[in-house]
Amino acid sequence: MKISRMFDEKKALWSFEVFPPKPTADMAAIHRTLEELTELKPDYISVTCGAGGTGNRRTAEIAGLLLGLGIEPLAHLTCINSSAADVERSVEELKLTGVTNILTLRGDRVPGAEESKDFRHASDLAAFVMARGDFDLGGACYPECHPESASVDEDIENLKKKIDAGVTHLNTQLFFDNEDFYRFTERLDKAGITVPVQAGIMPLVKKSHVDRTIGLSGAKLPGKITRMIARFYDDPDSLMAAGIAYATDQITDLLSAGVRGVHLYVMNNPYVARTITGNVSSILASVNR
Ligand code: FAD
Repeated sequence: MKISRMFDEKKALWSFEVFPPKPTADMAAIHRTLEELTELKPDYISVTCGAGGTGNRRTAEIAGLLLGLGIEPLAHLTCINSSAADVERSVEELKLTGVTNILTLRGDRVPGAEESKDFRHASDLAAFVMARGDFDLGGACYPECHPESASVDEDIENLKKKIDAGVTHLNTQLFFDNEDFYRFTERLDKAGITVPVQAGIMPLVKKSHVDRTIGLSGAKLPGKITRMIARFYDDPDSLMAAGIAYATDQITDLLSAGVRGVHLYVMNNPYVARTITGNVSSILASVNR
């Protein structure tokens, strides 16, 4: 089912993001992970891909496994290091797999890698994909502003171009302070952007996530979370429990405020997905009644 139709039918969606294993790794572990995530009955599961098209084949493979398990996949597709012919091949592969939902992304700049002559922005990719089939397109957005934009207002003007090119729903970059999300959605309202926006929530449950997330996303860390990290950084069980509690609290507040959905960056960890889903399931059910 198209994700835009899911938004028509439900007040708030619940979904997960997974990443494909390395091309050399075998698929058995990810298959088990997908089975466990499927049991939690999310509305859909998104599958990331590497910039440069390198991850696209595995993305399609995992999307196919999800379809086999009866879960709607949202396949990420990047363009920053791809030619039109590369993207054409990836889109064809996704179509043959049975994928209808695609998250159209520019992709992060890879230092030293040759950049595409055919695509500069995610909006170029969205227009290209729209012309190649009956797809439902999502796009990325940034409550704390994309780092390359001079201002949030400029970022939102550019977001409109993505929507004009065919994107019908948005997933946010991870954030840890809900006030940033609320300020962002107020700006979207003022700009006349009415497509549903799902909040991207990343439970900080492992030392490695803490290190990588802080470096990569550039997300602002509120005092509440820096205290949690400082206290439990070297205590894995407590960091797991505290990270799950923080994410649960964030999601409870977002659902109370009427968010159209939560997309959980579960980092291929079914335990984290299961625990948080259990924590918020009655609230989610109440919102969707
Ligand atoms: P764009 O929408 O192209 O935006 C990039 C910059 O260009 C912004 O500053 C924007 O304001 C500006 N801009 C956009 N359109 C225009 C225009 N028409 N004219 C002028 N300026 C413009 N990366 C991966 O490699 N693989 C993934 O699977 C992946 N998944 C992601 C999922 C989510 C939900 C999010 C939020 C990010 C994801 N990323 C992924 C990271 C993403 O690729 C980077 O954040 C990248 O830097 C920007 O991608 P974008 O699609 O938002 O780009």
